[in-house]
Amino acid sequence: MPFLPIVFTLLFFLRAPASSAATDTIFAGQALGVNDNLVSKNGRDTPIKNTTSLELTISHDGNLVILNRSTKSIIWSTEANITRNSTTAMLLSSGNFILVDSSNSSVLWQSFDHPTDTLLPGAKLGWDKLTGLNRRLVSWKNLNNPATGVYSDEIGLSFSLNQFFLAPHNNSMPYWSTGIYNGENFYSNSGMLTQNPLLSATVVGTDQEMYWTYNLVKEDIVTRNIIDSSGKVKMFFWSKQAQDWQVVYTQPLAPCDVYAICGPFTICNDNELPYCNCMEGFNITSPVDWDLQDRTGGCSRITPLECIGNKSTTHTTDKFYLVSCVTPQTAPKVEAATSASECAQVCLNDCSCTAYSFSDSRCSIWHNELLNIRALQCSGSTSSTGETLYLRVSAEDFHRVKNNRKGIVIGVATGTGVSALGLFALVLLVKIWRNRSKSSNILDCVQGCTRIIAFRYTDLQHVTTKFRDKLGAGSFGSVFKGVLNDSVAIAVKRLDGAYQGEKQFRAEVSSIGAVQHINLVKLVGFCCEGSNRLLVYEYMSNRSLDVHLFRNNPMILSWTTRYQIAIGVARGLAYLHEGCRDCIIHCDIKPENILLDDSFIPKVADFGMAKLLGREFSRVLTTMRGTAGYLAPEWISGVAVTQKVDVYSYGMMLLEIISGKRNSSASFSSGGNFDVYFPVHAAHKLLEGDVGSLVDQSLHGDVSLDEAELACKVACWCIQDNELDRPTMGQIVQILEGLVEIRMPPVPRHLEAMA
Ligand code: ADP
Ligand code: MG
Repeated sequence: MPFLPIVFTLLFFLRAPASSAATDTIFAGQALGVNDNLVSKNGRDTPIKNTTSLELTISHDGNLVILNRSTKSIIWSTEANITRNSTTAMLLSSGNFILVDSSNSSVLWQSFDHPTDTLLPGAKLGWDKLTGLNRRLVSWKNLNNPATGVYSDEIGLSFSLNQFFLAPHNNSMPYWSTGIYNGENFYSNSGMLTQNPLLSATVVGTDQEMYWTYNLVKEDIVTRNIIDSSGKVKMFFWSKQAQDWQVVYTQPLAPCDVYAICGPFTICNDNELPYCNCMEGFNITSPVDWDLQDRTGGCSRITPLECIGNKSTTHTTDKFYLVSCVTPQTAPKVEAATSASECAQVCLNDCSCTAYSFSDSRCSIWHNELLNIRALQCSGSTSSTGETLYLRVSAEDFHRVKNNRKGIVIGVATGTGVSALGLFALVLLVKIWRNRSKSSNILDCVQGCTRIIAFRYTDLQHVTTKFRDKLGAGSFGSVFKGVLNDSVAIAVKRLDGAYQGEKQFRAEVSSIGAVQHINLVKLVGFCCEGSNRLLVYEYMSNRSLDVHLFRNNPMILSWTTRYQIAIGVARGLAYLHEGCRDCIIHCDIKPENILLDDSFIPKVADFGMAKLLGREFSRVLTTMRGTAGYLAPEWISGVAVTQKVDVYSYGMMLLEIISGKRNSSASFSSGGNFDVYFPVHAAHKLLEGDVGSLVDQSLHGDVSLDEAELACKVACWCIQDNELDRPTMGQIVQILEGLVEIRMPPVPRHLEAMA
């Protein structure tokens, strides 16, 4: 069991109250045995590991203490200023553990004033200006260790600022802030904290206090707000459905936004996993801590530098190698130097110099630990937009790096210029090297790593046995099954016709590849040769949802599976819409694009196609009759589309998941003399309270009618004419999980008119 800070322990009590002699009050002299680990207020950095011989009790002086049962020595105490020693400790249903004066009920100490990394509803985050108490969240040291970590979430030191900052707790470099509070919301915040329908948040700013707090709208919801050891704030809800915590809010979204997240001498890359890597010539300082997400130690030199100090006459053997396409986010010192070699010499003359860059006649020098070096996405063919850094290493490490990189490192020895011809040869070598190293580790990359592989056309031809096993065809091409290394199945999508130039295609592919979520199909690689454009995905053994719903498949999807599919797809889309960096509108949600893995976990396929195919995409989409049933009315009317077009298509698909029939194929007698479209029929039946008749007959009544009604309500809200009436995918997840209630939807008018 990991060490739990006090709030976690209390939360645990809240959820699972001890059945026997459970009490929320301890009187003087009464003791409470503790099975969980507790972390003291003042002793956070020395968490208690052995808990079997501990007891929580009220000591003679009235303080709440943790004692060693055998030695009776005090391990932790509330250390409150107590005048009369008749005190009572109480665990309130909010999770606040309080010590009160029994005579007048005044609170002498409360756990809410010492929140460690967690804020529960009702607790205050901020300042008591009179006492100087700053209630702030400070992250754990690592995943398993509640000791003080690096990051804090607190209100601006200057009270007038009215905003929350995330910053290293002992450093004033904020890397994220909520923006200034305008009386209603935080300025730059996406709104989640205050606009979440489950929460009501308050900011209080008076002469005495400045704090933020939140409360829940419904009592039976369990939630917590934390700052985790990777410097992100997260809000969790307990999902009864999944029996697990679900993240509903995270900031900042990109890991590399967090100050010094990878530690010194590392490169942070948002588009790769792991996103932290040592610079070449460096090794992880403490692999154990690193694996537990504590990367404060970063990376260390393999061989020390040879320092010559200011005796510039002596020759140093230190060398520089080039780190291209990065953005150093710590400011360098600008030195007077007129050429790259002079700039290099300035660096060599200074023992603490670790890197330089020379561009636009500006010589920038970095000293000591290099922090916050972030990799940009620069493909081989485009000129890099980031900076090029020359990193100083010992001659020994330089040669090691050089050998690793197969001859692409240049030694910028002092006084040596690089000729234009040399530069050209270098670019060529980099290209060749990149291509070579890519194809060599294709096989171990399909399942494990997150890099996108560039395949050669002949390789794809080979693994698909000349495109023999066709899985299906859509409007933009065909999909074939392939097998890598005789073991790993892949799906190769051959796009019909080259819609895009190579440069843009590569850029889009790498941005799509960076989007990863359990409910999204993983893009493994691509091929871009001549006019050939192919995409390689992980193979989904249970194929697409349409195969199971509509094709007289003997294996009927159970109701539970259908409901899980509905929630999973909603989660995947919520991630696309709200969770990832450059939000993506899918634009083509339909059962053919919901793939199912071995365990019927749904994975949304073909996201990012709109970007990849450009104008051709919407042209095909809107003229194609097959998909028309899933298209929101605003597609046809020509106004700009938003995420809500996916919500619409999702609603249409949800109705099909319920009924097991294509909306387009099923029409129903309205009782009069004309037939109505299934979605309209469903909306009417829902209002009449007859959901049972809408559910797939092949299930023979083996369904949860409550869930079916919920799903129907969601579907009908999704297909409303006005996109503002439709819920967001994030809200849909919460509704389907039963966390939020929804009203009865009206019948969508435009559909009704389509009789
Ligand atoms: P559409 O999605 O319009 O049907 P696609 O060309 O995207 O057209 O795919 C055709 C079919 O190939 C899909 O409907 C699906 O059944 C199958 N398919 C696509 N990708 C995969 C994959 N990764 N694994 C298994 N089957 C797939
Ligand atoms: Mg598809």
